[in-house]
Amino acid sequence: MQSIVIVGGGAGGLELATRLGRAKLNVTLIDRERTHLWKPLLHEVATGTLDDGVDALSYRAHCAGVGIRFHLGQVNGMDRERRELLLAPMLGVHGEEVLHARRVAYDTLVWAVGAHSNDFGIQGVREHCHSLDSSAQAQAFHLELLNRFLHLQEEGHDDERVTVAIVGAGATGVELAAELFNAAEMLTHYGVERAGRKGLRVVLVEAAERVLPALPEVMSQRAQNVLEALGVELHLNTAVQQVQANGVMTKEGVLLPADLIVWAAGIQAPSFLARLGLPVNRINQLEVEADLRVKGEEAVYALGDCACLREAPTAATPAGRLVPPRAQAAHQMAKFLAQVLIERARHPSPVRAIKPFAYHDHGSLVSLADYQTLGSVMDDVMHGRFLIEGRMARAAYLSLYRQHQLTLHGPWRTALMMLASGMNQWIRPSIKLY
Ligand SMILES: Cc1cc2nc3c(=O)[nH]c(=O)nc-3n(C[C@H](O)[C@H](O)[C@H](O)COP(=O)(O)OP(=O)(O)OC[C@H]3O[C@@H](n4cnc5c(N)ncnc54)[C@H](O)[C@@H]3O)c2cc1C
Repeated sequence: MQSIVIVGGGAGGLELATRLGRAKLNVTLIDRERTHLWKPLLHEVATGTLDDGVDALSYRAHCAGVGIRFHLGQVNGMDRERRELLLAPMLGVHGEEVLHARRVAYDTLVWAVGAHSNDFGIQGVREHCHSLDSSAQAQAFHLELLNRFLHLQEEGHDDERVTVAIVGAGATGVELAAELFNAAEMLTHYGVERAGRKGLRVVLVEAAERVLPALPEVMSQRAQNVLEALGVELHLNTAVQQVQANGVMTKEGVLLPADLIVWAAGIQAPSFLARLGLPVNRINQLEVEADLRVKGEEAVYALGDCACLREAPTAATPAGRLVPPRAQAAHQMAKFLAQVLIERARHPSPVRAIKPFAYHDHGSLVSLADYQTLGSVMDDVMHGRFLIEGRMARAAYLSLYRQHQLTLHGPWRTALMMLASGMNQWIRPSIKLY
């Protein structure tokens, strides 16, 4: 049977691998991490309101369960003539080589390596900023945040606070800002009384004129109201010129001091994609056709954040709409591509015509911790005019994750997981304290 290799087991790649595995296709998944955590949860890992150790899924166990092979490793190139992927050597904790550089052969290849935050070449971002692109990064931020609060508790002056600057007021920045206050309040119940709203200062810096610039304006306004009520210091229309160890320097030359800085402004796909000889755009995303095949390729596909798909023009969008880098797009692409690849495996020739991928924008949801959830739903038809908030929005927000769990685990295991997560709220501390 033809082998399908998927590189990247994130929101889209793992769903695709699972669907193909259940259809009994010959599938190999490669990821550089040992465990999977749905990326939109990372800001909760960063604040400690979600424990990666409890919620992460082992790739090896999951793949064994759905009948697919798993390779742990970082892909850094491909041999297009021989149809082989190149994996970097895997190093152990002391830098020793655990696995040599390897090659993995494929008949059909799917790139699903996602994207990471874009530093736009701004000086100091790499050295001084945290980003939330992986569990390890989110956990590193969490530990430093705890240490800062510990220092405040034990040795802080009376007027001292922990200051976190977040650059980028998109969904990640806005959600993180609110979640930080939630986490700081929770810490007061565990002997860190100097935390809480009074012990935390959050500075949110955004180059655009409003928070959530990519979402409907009314949502921005509501989110801004919640953030201001929490005490978040907003710096809108503020571009960052440089990041220093002690804060963020704006284009106007004003230093915004901070103890911790999070970079959450824009995304780019991994740079090695631009060296494969495949067509990419200016942020390294692979250019794909409407059936998610990489342009000019017969058997190489891409989905999710690492794919650039411009939909066919319509009267409303004459230039054609770019599918946004979102979990719901990765989910829809994985579902579509699973159908395509299953169809091709069952009817290899003649190849039947495929209806192009169509992205359905079901709306955008933003969770401001326990303080508020906002959403614009049915954006396809309502164009951002149908807003929901509170419990209804919270339920819709959680349903995105449930959908992911359902695809991976099916209804029974998802129900058991929900039960376990409910029980954990009683058994475990409400925030990770280590
Ligand atoms: C903090 C945060 C909050 C977000 N909130 C939302 C939200 O509320 N709603 C929403 O729709 N979207 C949200 N997003 C965006 C969403 O997470 C992404 O759009 C989605 O995860 C993209 O899925 P993907 O499968 O393309 O990539 P990812 O989920 O990023 O997965 C990529 C996978 O590839 C692996 N990988 C990368 N490079 C290599 C390599 N060289 N070799 C091997 N493996 C590799 C990674 O380990 C990872 O497992 C959020 C993102 C972040 C960071």
